[in-house]
Amino acid sequence: MRKYFLSLVVAAPFVATAAYGLPAPSSPSSREKRAVAPRATPTPVAQRRAVAVSEADRPSTVVVIDAGHGGFDRGGIPRQLVPEKTMNLDVAQRLKAVLTAYGYRVVMTRDSDVFVPLGTRVAIANSYRDAIFVCIHFNAARRRSASGIETYFYSSQSLPLASAIHYYVAGGAPTANRGVRRRGFYVLRRTTIPSVLVECGFLTNAAEANYAQSADYRQKLAEEIGRGVRERSLVASTSAANRLAANNTGVPLQPFIDQTHYRDPDLSRSKRGKRSSKSSSRSTSSKRKHSSDSDSEKKTTKRKSAPAQTED
Ligand SMILES: [Zn+2]
Repeated sequence: MRKYFLSLVVAAPFVATAAYGLPAPSSPSSREKRAVAPRATPTPVAQRRAVAVSEADRPSTVVVIDAGHGGFDRGGIPRQLVPEKTMNLDVAQRLKAVLTAYGYRVVMTRDSDVFVPLGTRVAIANSYRDAIFVCIHFNAARRRSASGIETYFYSSQSLPLASAIHYYVAGGAPTANRGVRRRGFYVLRRTTIPSVLVECGFLTNAAEANYAQSADYRQKLAEEIGRGVRERSLVASTSAANRLAANNTGVPLQPFIDQTHYRDPDLSRSKRGKRSSKSSSRSTSSKRKHSSDSDSEKKTTKRKSAPAQTED
């Protein structure tokens, strides 16, 4: 029973690529988004570093990278074998290297295994002008078959960034494409800059947990996210532009699933206002949060009543 509806049809194909170092289960679909292929084939890090980025060429955008959870907050669900916080941090640090090589100035909300309250993460993001905010998470669900990659955004200004990141991450991954989704997670709703949250796969799914434990796979995830960041301005912003550009240049704006009605942002905001962001994320984060960021198909009832304060 799906209570959400599609704002648009989610049709983006996913493709397995050898770039992940994994067997390709299916051949690429014809509507190959890879037709748009970035000439930026991922270059080895060492090689990228050799390409000096002059000050003049540096992108002015600051990228604030937010590795979800940390410290006492492992993320995921109870008894989950692979700790989410560790995977998040590793991908975030790899992403930092990728973006730094591109010339971006990168700020990390955490760069070690520490707990950072959601309010602090948001404050860090909002303290930079002309910045973008990228939250890295892995998913969890009690239903072990739940799998795939999701990218979340909230404000309309964030959709191009979400589109670009999802286009590359889900497009290149050997797992299901669960689409771009709009939802009012705290860190997305409270940030004033373009903000996205990437769920890089389900650690409760045996196959995806295996992928996630491969350094090569995490590196590829970071490179695809980095590519999305770099090419976000190429996302077609109108349908006309899309028609003209999608087949040769740019990145198609992704359709999205609107899940904003799962949670009432205003209600949760007023509730949240009574607590500090610290306490809200502290006491409940590990339990509640994954009632949200896990598998949306099965948790609709829970989600309705669950407070929406968690970050993902
Ligand atoms: Zn998470």
